[in-house]
Amino acid sequence: MSSTAPESRVVLVTGGNRGIGRAIAEEFVAQGHQVAVTARSGTGPEGTLTVVADVTDAASIDAAFTEIESKLGPVEVVVANAGITRDMLLMRMSDDDFTQVIDTNLSGAFRVVKRASKGMMKARFGRIILVSSVVGLLGSAGQVNYSASKSGLIGLARSLTRELGSRGITANVVAPGFIETDMTAALPTEQQDAYLKQIPASRFAQPQEVAKAIAWLASDDAAYISGAVIPVDGGLGMGH
Ligand code: NDP
Repeated sequence: MSSTAPESRVVLVTGGNRGIGRAIAEEFVAQGHQVAVTARSGTGPEGTLTVVADVTDAASIDAAFTEIESKLGPVEVVVANAGITRDMLLMRMSDDDFTQVIDTNLSGAFRVVKRASKGMMKARFGRIILVSSVVGLLGSAGQVNYSASKSGLIGLARSLTRELGSRGITANVVAPGFIETDMTAALPTEQQDAYLKQIPASRFAQPQEVAKAIAWLASDDAAYISGAVIPVDGGLGMGH
């Protein structure tokens, strides 16, 4: 049986300077793709082009894409990974705590995807991958802002699938469970222990485990998968 080498793509990962985004960027580099990352501070891993961008600012996203297009070519694979938490019980959550999280996690993904779709529609090819969370579907006490932002990404991906599916563009969601990064290291030990008890795999995951699933969704093998929510959570969200 003959096989052709997978095509090298131009990939953009938002928030690629640390955590899950950094692991995603490393995985795409290892697979031979041309990878750009956005970072507000610091830089992406070796072999990537770092562009400064804040996903809450449409002008900075536009400038980042223009720079990537001139240096690497049009973006073919976009991973909307940048995200924040501002955990607080509802009664104590301010408007600002709510809107900041929505503005980064959900509106940020919208801005990035909207800008990316221009080139993808022209090329009649694209892979859009949105990094959600298991709590987007399960809900989570103390995270009404975060959980709402992450479930919003599912509606976003499914509507994109309906709008852009006929142009060779797929849009999928990856929903990680508990991954060891700065974000989860900030949680109190009791909360970490409580999570661990609920995870059938009985362990937390490494960022690379999310990166592998995302790289596969971007591959030619995943051309007929769109509007899907792929859990990488050790079974925590079963029944979604
Ligand atoms: P980290 O806190 O380690 O990293 C977050 C990344 O997002 C950083 O690169 C950060 O950049 C970037 N970022 C935040 N706000 C903005 C912004 N306004 N503009 C541009 N970049 C921004 O988080 P993780 O790696 O753990 O999380 C990555 C994604 O995965 C997030 O969307 C998160 O919600 C999701 N996730 C994480 C899970 C986990 O267990 N860790 C579980 C489920 C989902 P900077 O360094 O400049 O702050």
